[in-house]
Amino acid sequence: MKTIKDIDIENKKVLIRCDFNVPMKDGKIIDDNRIKESLKTINYCLDHNAKIILFSHLGRVKEEADLKKNNLAPVAERLEELLGKKVTFIAKTRGEELENAIANMKPQDVILVQNTRYEDLDGKKESSNDPELGKYWASLGDVFINDAFGTIHRAHASNVGIASNLPSAFGFLIEKELTALSELDHPQQPFIVVLGGAKVADKIGVIENLVTKADKILIGGGMAFTFLKAENYEVGSSLIDKESLEFCTKILKDYADKIILPVDVAVTTEYSNEEEYQVKDINNLAYNEMGLDIGPNTIALFENHLKTAKIVVWNGPLGVYEFDKYRKGTEEILKYLVDHNIKAILGGGDIVAAASTANLKDKVYHASTGGGATLEYLEGKTLPGIAAIK
Ligand code: AMP
Repeated sequence: MKTIKDIDIENKKVLIRCDFNVPMKDGKIIDDNRIKESLKTINYCLDHNAKIILFSHLGRVKEEADLKKNNLAPVAERLEELLGKKVTFIAKTRGEELENAIANMKPQDVILVQNTRYEDLDGKKESSNDPELGKYWASLGDVFINDAFGTIHRAHASNVGIASNLPSAFGFLIEKELTALSELDHPQQPFIVVLGGAKVADKIGVIENLVTKADKILIGGGMAFTFLKAENYEVGSSLIDKESLEFCTKILKDYADKIILPVDVAVTTEYSNEEEYQVKDINNLAYNEMGLDIGPNTIALFENHLKTAKIVVWNGPLGVYEFDKYRKGTEEILKYLVDHNIKAILGGGDIVAAASTANLKDKVYHASTGGGATLEYLEGKTLPGIAAIK
């Protein structure tokens, strides 16, 4: 893997694609974690006297009204506070003001360029990787560092476009992600996959890619009920992903010994946190009951499979963790992995949010920051942002 340490950045104009796609409300940043996480790469460039030019997207820009909402200016202010030095914000994505500001930079100066997706208003130039745009942005610097893992599965002008026109490498954030995720390319055995969440359809690619490598796939969450239905269980009013029934039937037939399903679940009659619930054996669900979490026997069953695991990858919560009544399964399994020092990689999105709620995120081996990017990596796809730099 070619990282920032393998490339000469001393006194160079370094273009960095950051992930400053922070949650905003009324023009204010609600969570600045992503900005904080970018500091390691930026500080490394400062230590090497680089001239630093930062790019990022923020939200989606489909119409004029999105411009104001997704202006990157507040990020420049927060970054300035975090770095303890001036960050010059250029409110445009191209043009004389930007070019002059760059021409006048001194080593250790920092510029943040406006939201790259402002270019999407004009024929989706950023998101469709318009070749002229990538070439133009590349012309502003000497080297390119990609440190935005969340968009690495997309071929955009600000990642693939620039990388195709300049000497390029990964920043520390992407290095950390890829180092952890690549352990799953040839995983140590026993290798256990844990899957939960709502829809089977979203996880089909992951199951197909990992089923041959994994020793077991433990399935909980809403998606378990489509598998249980495929096995002819009465699943009451639990979540069912009808279009995936056929897939579930086939995978259960082909890999009967690998797929482990819940044996008991927490059931209720309303999708809410208020209603009482009962734990029921999977044979005993009534037509009006829905399962919203795995039960204690399933937790014990899953732990039994996990106890000898050398590596675990987990995508999707095992219950409706947003309701405190139904986060027990997810939290107990997370705690088990942490308490037993089992190497676990959380595959982005909701399972990372669930680990955060349980104060366990920093205790697991790796919590991936990518949602779609991590999922596509687990599907075994070639990610354009990686291919452009490899
Ligand atoms: P996904 O994005 O597919 O990983 O799905 C995450 C969502 O799955 C979360 O919002 C959970 O509330 C939901 N979920 C997990 N378990 C269940 C369940 N048993 N029934 C309905 N939704 C569930």
